[in-house]
Amino acid sequence: MPILQAFGPSVTHQPLPPSATGRSAASSRWGVLPAPSLEWSPQVEREPAHLYERIKAVVPAIEWPFFAPYVRAINALKRDRNAVILAHNYQTPEIYNCVADFVGDSLQLAREAMKVDADIIVQCGVHFMAETSKILNPDKTVLIPDLKAGCSLAASITGEDVRLLRAKFPGVPVVAYVNTSAEVKAEVDICCTSSNALEVVESLGSDTVIFLPDQYLAKYVAGHTKVKIISWQGACEVHERFTAEELRNYRAGDPSLQIIAHPECPPDVIEEADYTGSTAGMIDWVRKNRPRRVVMVTECSMADNVQAELPDVEFVRPCNLCPHMKRITLPKILDSLVYLKEEVVIDPAIAARARRSVERMVNLKG
Ligand code: SF4
Repeated sequence: MPILQAFGPSVTHQPLPPSATGRSAASSRWGVLPAPSLEWSPQVEREPAHLYERIKAVVPAIEWPFFAPYVRAINALKRDRNAVILAHNYQTPEIYNCVADFVGDSLQLAREAMKVDADIIVQCGVHFMAETSKILNPDKTVLIPDLKAGCSLAASITGEDVRLLRAKFPGVPVVAYVNTSAEVKAEVDICCTSSNALEVVESLGSDTVIFLPDQYLAKYVAGHTKVKIISWQGACEVHERFTAEELRNYRAGDPSLQIIAHPECPPDVIEEADYTGSTAGMIDWVRKNRPRRVVMVTECSMADNVQAELPDVEFVRPCNLCPHMKRITLPKILDSLVYLKEEVVIDPAIAARARRSVERMVNLKG
């Protein structure tokens, strides 16, 4: 079923400054700690050495002396603060493997956070992910190490845009991808992830659904359902850069090569793929199928992280980095834990409505 109508920006917006955040009140609540020493010492060399073993396939030994003091200090600060670190699959290997307590896609991370008895969550990902953690964990302090870590999809649509769509299509249910702000989540009927988008759309029992903001995920869903889809023209600036031609060229050089793609990619790219799924789905696919060579058509740190776990698989890397994810670094995580910044604050009324949309999806998954 082709897309019925598409609305919204014809080009992807630059990420907007986060709108619903404020300076940390957390520092008054929990207090600021002294900054730890980052000097090299035999202890710094010894204590985190086992963590380097996890990433030695993807991080050269010459870089480890820079990371090791931060890794040791951050892991000690987590204990002092009763804090946990949630790291998205697109974080760099030293964050993902050496300081994170939980790794996964944005929803997996938020749900994990609900199960832990921690006072503080440090979100190593982008701003909408930190908001989702705060929505699901309203009593915890949620920090993001860099407030400018935005997302081109989340920045492509506002709550006011959703209200205008509702006025234009009265009674048509609205589904929002989790890559949206809390303000947008508060205006929609239900959220979805890239792994459950089709199931969510079909669960609504409507012959037409407004699906936002990712035009490519909307097309992917429209291609697998009889429900008519009205879409928004947002896009992920990382995934829309891949081309079908570059994938065909890889395949021409090695016909046995496996190609797996994220559904935020354009349709002609997805057509070249042997498997399409969410970041968590892609990782599971590689774990299960153990291909000899594979192209992961997504943000390139994810291939590093899976490579660290599965050194026998060869990853071909058409490397598109997400500049927003890469704003998160070990020095900024350290500052977050010492100074309790930057705290994610959401208006309680917006958070409550956004939580309803997220929980409706979670309950659907059973
Ligand atoms: S990879 Fe794309 S969807 Fe993910 S945070 Fe970056 S811009 Fe947003």
